[in-house]
Amino acid sequence: MSKHHQFKHNIIAMIYDFDGTLTPQPMQEYTILPKLGVAPQEFWHRVKQEARETGGDEMLTYMRLLVDKLETKQQHLNRSDLCSLGARIKYFPGVESWFERIAKYVRKRGGGNIRLENYIISAGQKEILEGVAIREHFTAMFASEYFFDHHDRATWPNILINDTIKTQYIFRINKGLEAPINEYMPEDQRRIPFSNIVYIGDGMTDVPGMTVTKKNGGYAIAVHRPRIPKSIATCRKLLEARRIDFYAPANYSTGRVLEKRVQLILDQIIAQVLYQREIFSARLSLG
Ligand SMILES: [Mg+2]
Repeated sequence: MSKHHQFKHNIIAMIYDFDGTLTPQPMQEYTILPKLGVAPQEFWHRVKQEARETGGDEMLTYMRLLVDKLETKQQHLNRSDLCSLGARIKYFPGVESWFERIAKYVRKRGGGNIRLENYIISAGQKEILEGVAIREHFTAMFASEYFFDHHDRATWPNILINDTIKTQYIFRINKGLEAPINEYMPEDQRRIPFSNIVYIGDGMTDVPGMTVTKKNGGYAIAVHRPRIPKSIATCRKLLEARRIDFYAPANYSTGRVLEKRVQLILDQIIAQVLYQREIFSARLSLG
């Protein structure tokens, strides 16, 4: 069968934010800040304050202040140091077995006809993410990156990802990572249609990502830190503004609310994909 005679929209993409979504704290608080002996609260306060005063981007300010800190502490952290720090990250309950469980669910419900791909889009640091325990479950991870000079020293931001830039990566996943991002591509030729995309995030920084996904026919879920009123209030606000389909406590364990709601969305997508697949082969049989 030629490739034009195969139904291609059989991939489901689950796109995860990282900090606060899969982990209780930002990734830097398990890794680079303790390594440098820096108190996180004080450091984040300084990042926010400087970004406000200079009108700068918070992530860029963070990246600059971190390089300054390395300099004052006369420390050297190369790419592989940062990567090995990734192993120190702690996750919400159930995260480590979640991806296997969900993949199995999709395989079973889709009768082996549907594939699941996981992605991370994070404003955090790619060098740290490369070393996380759950790395193997992701097709691709997009995050901010440093430029490393010939001494393998982080000197400059090479890639910056913030709230709105996240949406660019959602379109990349939608069109296929190889496709030129700004070229017109009809919906039916895109690798993963939005109707097969689920975005999971935890807060206001995910609003552009959730909005783009939902407005184009996909799904969005928010998670909150269990029993933390401020975190629950954010989720309620997102639901009220119809930016998400559901929210749930960030407990990824078997049988919890989050798993049930994600399965419900997956059931809906799987039914739709199998239906489209049937229509496709019925039309194909006409010759
Ligand atoms: Mg987050």
